[in-house]
Amino acid sequence: MAATSRTPGTITGNRGLQIEEPLIFEQGTAGRTGVDLAEPVPREDRLGGLAREGEIGLPGLSEPEVMRHFMRLSQKNFAIDSGFYPLGSCTMKHNPRLNERLARLPGLADLHPMQPEATVQGALELIDSLARWLKVLTGMEAVALSPAAGAQGELCGMMCIRAALEAKGDARRRVLVPESAHGTNPATAAACGYDIDAVANNARGRVDLAAVKAKLGDDVAGIMLTNPNTCGLFEDEILEIAEAVHEVGAYFYCDGANFNAIVGKVRPGDLGIDAMHLNLHKTFSTPHGGGGPGSGPVVLSGGLAPFAPLPFVVHGKEGFRLVEHRGRSEDEGLSAIGRLKGFHGQMGMFVRALAYMMSHGADGLRQVAEDAVLNANYLLAGLKDVLTVSYPGPCMHEVLFDDGFLEDTGVSTLDFAKALIDEGFHPTTIYFPLVVHGAMLMEPTETESKASLDQFIATVRGLAAGARSGDAAKFHDAPKLTPRRRLDETGAARHPVLRWRPAPDKAAE
Ligand SMILES: *Cc1c(COP(=O)(O)O)cnc(C)c1O
Repeated sequence: MAATSRTPGTITGNRGLQIEEPLIFEQGTAGRTGVDLAEPVPREDRLGGLAREGEIGLPGLSEPEVMRHFMRLSQKNFAIDSGFYPLGSCTMKHNPRLNERLARLPGLADLHPMQPEATVQGALELIDSLARWLKVLTGMEAVALSPAAGAQGELCGMMCIRAALEAKGDARRRVLVPESAHGTNPATAAACGYDIDAVANNARGRVDLAAVKAKLGDDVAGIMLTNPNTCGLFEDEILEIAEAVHEVGAYFYCDGANFNAIVGKVRPGDLGIDAMHLNLHKTFSTPHGGGGPGSGPVVLSGGLAPFAPLPFVVHGKEGFRLVEHRGRSEDEGLSAIGRLKGFHGQMGMFVRALAYMMSHGADGLRQVAEDAVLNANYLLAGLKDVLTVSYPGPCMHEVLFDDGFLEDTGVSTLDFAKALIDEGFHPTTIYFPLVVHGAMLMEPTETESKASLDQFIATVRGLAAGARSGDAAKFHDAPKLTPRRRLDETGAARHPVLRWRPAPDKAAE
């Protein structure tokens, strides 16, 4: 075991009770197994000579070895259940256990998407109830539930906009995207075949209204604007932007991933928005980031509703029904853009999100937004004299700092983030948004206690003091206390090793 590249100082490479763990394939031994099956009865080969000749290649381990393997891996995993996770833009909040219980009820968990409609009336009603909650909370006409993530919700919304324009015979080419946008926004517009035209921010960290107006024209299909934006600020000229966009016949797409900051307080439908995705896995607490799949419903205005993708639930005289194929009328999906996903979407996430809404109620959801904003402003107040605040004034659900305070220290934003890991915190989001230098975006969410925020503030203050007192070496070495140190993240992304191969000596055995 190459202990030097791992944690120094022990024979095994283990650090205390944190145990080194090779791949399961490296541990497997031929002939060992966790199950005891009878020898199969000989059968006539019906594979026409295609039967496998070599070993199947599964690792051979006993049951306790398998248990330890996965337990050890799980202990290397940092999770919202293990500590503070202030990853800006990602909304890593507690996933209530009640939601998990409900999602595991056999009547929901054991459903099959191809069951006859008559046997899944309850599930369809649940989907319909979730749709109603989302429409009421956003003040919008319709909702498409099938998109499997925020990014796919954006694609869905922009495809609806493109379909609406094409239906009018209007082939517009340009989509305006603010410089502070999440990378998925320009990617979505490009995937829909549009040319992206970047719009600058103003000195207050908001989209510049004059710049939007200057770029608008009758070749603009729409704008993709995030509110609250990725600098953690409310776009306070959104009504004027919506009006200007509509004046040239373009559509207003809102990236609603940050809806957790305004749920129960602001209805996007009142802001002139035509389409907006919601991230159930952010605002409505469903697990994500390795814990579960995303879910990105898109709310639509009346004008865009006919283009919503299939399938969708309708409630008729004979109960609930799924419209799965384009029918002859608008009510039957005549103009639907098609299908974005097999079946209806992430049912398990629908259950969790609806449980979250119903257990919080209207007042509870409003408090979610208020507390998320309060907690972010608490971080802002506790750190503004030692870090560099990017924009003046209070923030929404997340607070943005840049690397001004690290100037001439020899410490970068990346080093600072790595030092947080040694202190037991998941790093903040770094180098995003791109509109400030060396960004650090912190999102505490509403579920953190004052005690945990205070501990984080004290830690960041201590690290900032360390950086300024010339202790750059400590930052360059960080993280020192993790099972692995600095990984080649770019190399891993560019040249991923996706397949295990036996070491040559083992293969020769
Ligand atoms: C998270 C996020 C997205 C993308 O959502 P996914 O579910 O990760 O695809 C898009 N825009 C913003 C502002 C986000 O925060």
